[in-house]
Parts: sequence; structure tokens; C-alpha cells
Amino acid sequence: MDSEKTRVAVLGATGAVGQRFVQLLAGHPWFELAAVAASGRSEGRAYGEVVRWLLPGSVPEEAAALALVAAEPAAVDADLVFSALDPAAAESVEGRFRAAGKTVVSNASAYRMHPDVPLVVPEVNPGHLAMISGQRARCGGAIVTNPNCSTIGLCLALEPLRKAFGLRRVQVTTMQALSGAGYPGVPSMDVVDNVLPLIPGEEDKLEREPAKIFGTLSGSEVEAHPVALSAQCNRVAVRDGHLLSVSVEMEKRATLEEAAEAIEGYRSPLEGLALPSAPERPVLLNRSAARPQPVLDRDACRGMSATVGRLKPCPVLGLRFVALVHNTLRGAAGNTILIAELMKARNLL
Ligand code: NAP
Repeated sequence: MDSEKTRVAVLGATGAVGQRFVQLLAGHPWFELAAVAASGRSEGRAYGEVVRWLLPGSVPEEAAALALVAAEPAAVDADLVFSALDPAAAESVEGRFRAAGKTVVSNASAYRMHPDVPLVVPEVNPGHLAMISGQRARCGGAIVTNPNCSTIGLCLALEPLRKAFGLRRVQVTTMQALSGAGYPGVPSMDVVDNVLPLIPGEEDKLEREPAKIFGTLSGSEVEAHPVALSAQCNRVAVRDGHLLSVSVEMEKRATLEEAAEAIEGYRSPLEGLALPSAPERPVLLNRSAARPQPVLDRDACRGMSATVGRLKPCPVLGLRFVALVHNTLRGAAGNTILIAELMKARNLL
């Protein structure tokens, strides 16, 4: 592995996810934040003056003085680019960065289901990163994508069960935090004293993405896993942390204790690589009666572990549980940075 720090840029650095990138990259041992970009509104002004900082503490020093640049390859002096762009801008902007030979690791959904673009949860399908060699040969650079925030929590929670017993059918209902809608996000008058039973486009993502992530790489494309998924998504008045109620039918039946042991015994395949953002345990089982809860469990392992609880028999599908994922950490910027760390460790940058 190249031991020098890699210069990185954040596109969409002023948004809810962009701020998480800036926070996580401050003092990062392998990456140095070299450029921040947002919409043309703030070009040329200092990041620290423009950003409406939403996270605890103040804007990291190394970012505050950086001048915001246009989200264009010629303006960005870094070969590794993290994208937290608004969905409307992502497709064209990320495509231009790839054509200019850059490596883009993106949170946006635009390229997730493209056949030669890996969609990665590093502990679940690290091997899919091999797809980028074909992309680089054809396009110059490469795009690698981060799944939808709820998809990441769902796939992490299911992975120990998939490995031990196989997956057939999954039904999931989400209760998703406000930060998942960006900033300023959902109007307060819509969500206080209320639950919104629609997050446009979300159910479709949650029903399609896991089959690609759990799929098998065959040649240069992924053969989708045959798991059938049904998803219903709700927006709730929680600041951070998506809660998921999941029922699952597995290929092999398992007792509750066998399922619990599979989750507790699950170990990350990335152990030994010493990736700076990798949690020791990507999936935690909490056996307390009323856990996980967003306010108590979202920060587990610096927000990088999913927590599973309320494991019970399901009279319809066999097994059910509740899972929690921090949507802007493991569900967004944290997972993206972990992908890039894995790429650096494997000399794929
Ligand atoms: P957000 O708070 O609305 O931020 C959007 C960012 O994009 C801002 O920095 C904005 O800059 C920039 N932008 C808007 N139009 C642009 C343009 N034409 N050119 C360049 N930059 C532009 O959104 P977010 O929640 O951070 O989400 C960012 C991306 O991550 C989205 O694609 C979202 O779907 C995805 N995502 C979000 C989450 C989550 O939990 N929030 C989780 C997973 C994935 P200005 O400030 O200058 O407008």
C-alpha cells in the first residue's frame, strides 16, 4: 500500500453528508482533504464562512480556510473524489469526473445500478471492487457507489444470517431519521406530531440494491442474489439513525439461539487490514428488551456498526428483528470512506 496520504476532494461538501465527510476526514491517517466543492452559489468563498455547520463542535480547522471550488474536474486538484452531491447534479458531474480519469466514490444513487459500477458494503461484498478495472479501461476513471442508507443497515444486519442459513424472502419497514433528507430537509410543520408514510424513491432502492450487494461477481458483472424483498419506508422525527423492523425467511430454518449465535459469532472479513474506519464488529446484537433505539445505539463503534435486537420468531416468515444504522455515518460518509480505505489497502486507487 502507498504509505503517503492521498489527496481527496468532497463534492457537495456543504450538505448534510458532505459535512460528515469533512468531519471524518479531519486528521484522517490516510487521506488529506485538499478540495471542497458545492454549487456555484458559494464558489471562491471560504468553506468555514459558507457552511451552516450542523454537527457538534466547530468546522475542522483544515477545512475552514479552504476556498470552495466548482464541482468540475479542472477545478479540483485531487484524484480521489468523494461525492455527496444533490441527486439532480450527481449523474452529470460524477460522469465528468470519471471521464477526466478520477476515482469517484459516491453517495448519490445515479450510478448504483449500472452494470459495471460496484455497489459496496465493504464487509459484505469487498470482491465487487474488481469491477472497476473494466470501467477504467472504458471510461478513463471509475465510479464506485455507496448503497442507500437503509440498504446498508439492512445488508449488514442480514449478512451473518445469509452466511449461516441463506436468504429467501425479506420484509422490512423503516423509520428513517430527518438527516436522511439532507438540510434543511422536511419542513417542521410536516413532521412534528406526525409520521410521513412516503419517502419518494426509497422503497424501490431498498427492494433492488440488496440483491446486487449479495450477488455473485461473474466476469465483469454481478449476478443478482435471488432474495425477494418488500419494503415500506417512513420518515420520523428523529435527528439521526434509521430503525428497521425486519422479518426474514431463510433457506435453512434456525432456532432463535442459532440465529443469535450467528450474529454474535460473525467476524468482519476485513479484520487484519487495519482500515482506520473499520469497526471491530460491524454487527452487534443487543439482547436487552427494548433495544436498539436511535438515541442510545446509533453511535455504536463511532456510528460504524449496525445494532440488531428484538430477535424473535416470526409466525409468517420465520425470524424477525429490529436493526439500527447511523444514516450519515455508516449509512453515508463513513461507509464511503471505508470503501476508499479498502481500495487504498488493495492498491486500487
Ligand atoms: P444536501 O444536504 O441537500 O446537500 C447537497 C449538496 O449538493 C450541497 O453541498 C449542495 O451545495 C450540493 N449541490 C446542489 N446542487 C449542486 C450542483 N448543481 N452542483 C454542485 N453541487 C451541488 O443532501 P445530503 O443529504 O447531504 O445528500 C447528498 C447525497 O447523498 C444525495 O445524493 C443523497 O441522496 C445521498 N445520501 C444521503 C444520505 C443521508 O443520510 N442524508 C444517506 C445516503 C445517501 P449548496 O450548499 O451550494 O447548495
